[in-house]
Amino acid sequence: MHPARERGLIELQCAALDHLAERAGHLSLPRVRPLTDGKRLTTTCFDGVARLVWMLTFVPGTVLAAARPHSPQLLESLGRLLGEMDAALADFTHSAAVRELKWDLTRAGWIREHLHEIEGPERQALVERFLTYYATDVEPSLEGLRRAVIHGDANDHNAIAGNAKDWPREITSVVDFGDMHHGLVVAEPAVAAAYAIMGTRDPVEAAARVVAGYHGAHPLQAGEIACLYTLIGLRLAVSVTNSARVKKMQPDDSYVTISEAPAWEALDVDLRREPGLVLDLGVGSRLLGADPAEAGTEALTDKISRAMKDAEVSVAVGRYDEARGIYISGLFGAGERPTDERRTVHLGVDLFVDPGSPIHAPLEGVVYVLTNNTAPQDYGPLVILRHETDTGASFFTLYGHLTEDTLEGLRLDQKIARGEEFARVGAPPTNGGWTPHLHFQIILDLLEQGADFPGVVHARRRAVWTSLSPDPNVLLGIPSDRFPSEDPPSSATLSARRDRLGPSLSVSYRTPLKIVRGWKQYLYDETGRAYLDVYNNVPLVGHSHPRVVRAASERLALLNTNTRYLHDNVVRYAERLTALLPDPLGVCFFLSSGSEANELALRLARAHTGREDVIVLEHAYHGHTTTLIDVSPYKFDGPGGGGRRPWVHVAPLPDVYRGPYKRDDPEAGVKYARGVGAITAALPVEDRGPAAFLAETLPSVAGQIVFPPGYLAEAYRHVPEAGGGCIADEVQTGFGRLGSHRWGFEPQGVVPDIVVLGKPIGNAFPLAAVVTTREIATSFDNGMEFFATFGGNPVACAVGLAVLDVLKDEALQDRAWRVGQHLIAGLRRLQERHQLIGDVRGSGLFLGVELVRDRTTLEPAPEEAAYVVERLRERGVLTGTDGPHENVLKLRPPLVFSEEDADHFLEALDDVLEEDAAQA
Ligand code: PMP
Repeated sequence: MHPARERGLIELQCAALDHLAERAGHLSLPRVRPLTDGKRLTTTCFDGVARLVWMLTFVPGTVLAAARPHSPQLLESLGRLLGEMDAALADFTHSAAVRELKWDLTRAGWIREHLHEIEGPERQALVERFLTYYATDVEPSLEGLRRAVIHGDANDHNAIAGNAKDWPREITSVVDFGDMHHGLVVAEPAVAAAYAIMGTRDPVEAAARVVAGYHGAHPLQAGEIACLYTLIGLRLAVSVTNSARVKKMQPDDSYVTISEAPAWEALDVDLRREPGLVLDLGVGSRLLGADPAEAGTEALTDKISRAMKDAEVSVAVGRYDEARGIYISGLFGAGERPTDERRTVHLGVDLFVDPGSPIHAPLEGVVYVLTNNTAPQDYGPLVILRHETDTGASFFTLYGHLTEDTLEGLRLDQKIARGEEFARVGAPPTNGGWTPHLHFQIILDLLEQGADFPGVVHARRRAVWTSLSPDPNVLLGIPSDRFPSEDPPSSATLSARRDRLGPSLSVSYRTPLKIVRGWKQYLYDETGRAYLDVYNNVPLVGHSHPRVVRAASERLALLNTNTRYLHDNVVRYAERLTALLPDPLGVCFFLSSGSEANELALRLARAHTGREDVIVLEHAYHGHTTTLIDVSPYKFDGPGGGGRRPWVHVAPLPDVYRGPYKRDDPEAGVKYARGVGAITAALPVEDRGPAAFLAETLPSVAGQIVFPPGYLAEAYRHVPEAGGGCIADEVQTGFGRLGSHRWGFEPQGVVPDIVVLGKPIGNAFPLAAVVTTREIATSFDNGMEFFATFGGNPVACAVGLAVLDVLKDEALQDRAWRVGQHLIAGLRRLQERHQLIGDVRGSGLFLGVELVRDRTTLEPAPEEAAYVVERLRERGVLTGTDGPHENVLKLRPPLVFSEEDADHFLEALDDVLEEDAAQA
């Protein structure tokens, strides 16, 4: 014997084996052999150390771990042997049997302190779950369970199988009585079953055989059977936790790791684990649609019940400390702006159950508040219980959205026992109109607020309120692995982005926004703060427009593929699109981005003319590819740019505010166009004439420039005369944003040879198009086939068609005009009062506000512009700057923008311009 072992433990084993020999002589268990002096135990010296020695008979056979197969009969015989043994031990007592042993399942709580030594949060959660089952199911009934001296370690290395040739093969003996202790009788079959299920395909069958064998020989009681499942898992949990500890102490012992693997596998087959249904009701939740109004109670009720049905659960959980998408909907109070910060962070846990479900007190308490709580907290019928800790400190638990009967059935100061049913979950409308659920919250200090203690708070104050209302899961014990993974805070997203995305990728605002939801003209950050989007021209018909979403998702659920097969969507879309463009623009090419489209437009022009040179405007931007950077002065002349290529020619920007010819000059258009004429005249027509004049019809990056009348007509005259084609980049301006016209070239009275469409065309779905004449398309058909994998795919075309439908059905071009006029008028009024506003220009909802420090010198005000943009963002209004001097506020909201939105924006801008940092 190990020198450190107490003598009492050996005496216990000897006494037990003697007892068994006498009471159950038919069992072939080891027998204690008396020593020559008749004693059962002596001390002798090994290598100078005194050790206890005793002698047992040899038990022939094979350890169960090495016996194959583990037939049902074999497992049942193990249970039977243990049952017969325990039946014989039932009246056996020994003073050494009551001992502190880590394998005693009544003491298994020790593993809680060692959870952190287990590697990986999933595995920790697995063990934690069984501790939770133990606490909720076994511990409360521990008193009623039989205790006796048990073997306590019938693992598969201690069970001895008989001869392999015998039929049926049975367990003949168990050895190693070293873990004998006075413990739960039911722990005996539980331990044996825990080992029997390892590595089996059918753990229930294996465990059932062991238990059935045991029960036949030594019947278990109902209360014991109820605990079996948890105790089997708990034994595995103790075993893996012990292995994790040993591993920490002996990291090189690979035996530990190998032997624990089947235990982990067995633990993972937790049959009690419901399919996780902790709901994600966060701002970015996919359970909720993008429409905040849809989060109104009925739609939400439907969605939650459907989710519960799909997951086959009767309880769903709404999370604590969750910024919720369901609180950003609804009516705005008087004087309240949609962009005002709202209460979104949930301080309780919601338990969605059938109305009428009983609520049992998790702790002993006293009824402290009984009320029907309406706005602003909206708990409906509400109960608050007051509890006391052992040290006399009091705290509270709050139960909201109950039945009205609950209130009638209780009185203040009434004592409620732990586990007592004291309330029921209400149904709409008596529960405040909510989807039936219990709102359960812990409150450490009710402050002065009593029944009006908030259940939902502002994200900004979340730290304070969560310190007063800690996580109710300390009482509920929902295993952490059932919770959907939480999104990292925006600071973590930013650093991960810096880590993993190209560092030159731009991000807006000093404190970047994390946007998780978009609806119409609003974007929502992860805390549920709404931002009025005055900036994004891409979601033309509004963020997440349902018709566009439906078109994309329905088609994607059916088919998406390249354009090498016939499909009606692409043809239908080409027909619809060309019908919106003047003759002879009748042939389409489809692509996935504005850059791709501009690339192709240049290839078309070059193929058609056989030339290379391109004329562009100062400060233009046309895309991010190699060639397009070469034709974008904004890039090649900007930071990191490589300068102008010899085949690129830059014409002056027709800027009637800042350029040499002003708005009041009726000839300005013709005069600026002379810049284009000068280039074509200077090019030797024979071999170096222009392939194309590529220009936006209202240059955006250059500062939301509106061409003076006659400019494009004159420029579009010079270029063809020199043998070149005219490409209109309508990536920013097309599809009705200008209000007065659908396309930017229309107010200029011209028809380009090639039109490039992008950004708004798919309402943010990747789609772009080049539309040209049959003649040019034919020139391009020179033997080299054209193919862009994603171009014109069925989903993109379905989206494109839906966008055209919505534009028409919602008359968004007219709206752009009407709201644009309203906005321009408001901006002009601000211009009268704020010196900083030098110029207001644009059309419809494509507007620029140029900020200058001096209206005479036109000294640009870029710092002021940056300040204004940042301050507007803080007020919940999104804009940006552009122009060569970064001093032009760019206004290009989705076309669903309303007059009220315009007023909201104007008011915010007016306020910000009053601030001293924005003074000219
Ligand atoms: N042309 C213009 C006028 C643009 O503004 C842009 C994008 N800002 C592009 C082309 C390139 O489009 P994309 O980013 O979709 O490639």
